[in-house]
Amino acid sequence: MDTIKIIIAGPRGRMGREAVDLVMNTEHFELTAVLDHKNDGMMLSDVQGFQGVTNVPVYTDIEKCLQNTEADVLIDLTTPEAGPYHVRTALNYNVRPVVGTTGFTKEELQEFEETCKEKELGCIIAPNFAIGAVLMMKFSQMAAKYFQDVEIIEMHHDRKLDAPSGTAVKTAEMISAVREAKKQGHPNEKETIEGARGADYNGMHIHSVRLPGLIAHQQVMFGSDGQTITIRHDSYNRASFMSGVKVAVETVMKQNTFVYGLENILD
Ligand code: NAP
Repeated sequence: MDTIKIIIAGPRGRMGREAVDLVMNTEHFELTAVLDHKNDGMMLSDVQGFQGVTNVPVYTDIEKCLQNTEADVLIDLTTPEAGPYHVRTALNYNVRPVVGTTGFTKEELQEFEETCKEKELGCIIAPNFAIGAVLMMKFSQMAAKYFQDVEIIEMHHDRKLDAPSGTAVKTAEMISAVREAKKQGHPNEKETIEGARGADYNGMHIHSVRLPGLIAHQQVMFGSDGQTITIRHDSYNRASFMSGVKVAVETVMKQNTFVYGLENILD
């Protein structure tokens, strides 16, 4: 297998650190630079927590990084503010983005889909790289054919910036594709405290829980006469996302289109 040259954006973050580990420990992956918003001009091995890690430069300017670095793939694990700019710029330089950052808008996703089509370049954006979470979404879509009433409860650590989570939105989209439209709950229901019924997505409700101690969890509850079914997935650490990142990096090298969601690249 040919070596895949990789830049990681957000290496000091919780996901970024796992991604650095993944790239360093995968034989056919090579880390060629990292992109941060601190430590410009340093070597990664001089950054606290990375002693002993391969000597690759840290850039804070993505243009400069892409001009000076050989790269096939940019793995982005940053923020909803920085991520879209990174993807746009990487595509401009014919570098294929693999993106775990969540909180992208519909317009941004559409823009990237069009750029990939024009440039015939691969790009994978996945709001959840845990294979178990992908199965949870698929099973939920299967159940939604038979159960119209559903509430999505997503639970994350309290450092998360966006709500609802990208996974919850993606789950709601997948359910909507098969679920007969319905406004759930009592037609005359009233919230006595604003937000009590959660966010409304095509009549189904999404609830976002934020607590220290959690990582990434979601349960999708369906109900009908006399029965409920609950489909639940839990990520207990960030390593749970890395097998999906690995598959995405390998796949993005073989495809020339935009893909949103890991489920679209798994057999
Ligand atoms: P995190 O620990 O806050 O890491 C984000 C990192 O990005 C931080 O080191 C931050 O630096 C850095 N950063 C901020 N602005 C930047 C910029 N302009 N350029 C480069 N780096 C920048 O967050 P996390 O938990 O690792 O999550 C990262 C992203 O992945 C989030 O969007 C999260 O929702 C998403 N996520 C996705 C999955 C998935 O499976 N797809 C799973 C978990 C999380 P400072 O700390 O100095 O600001």
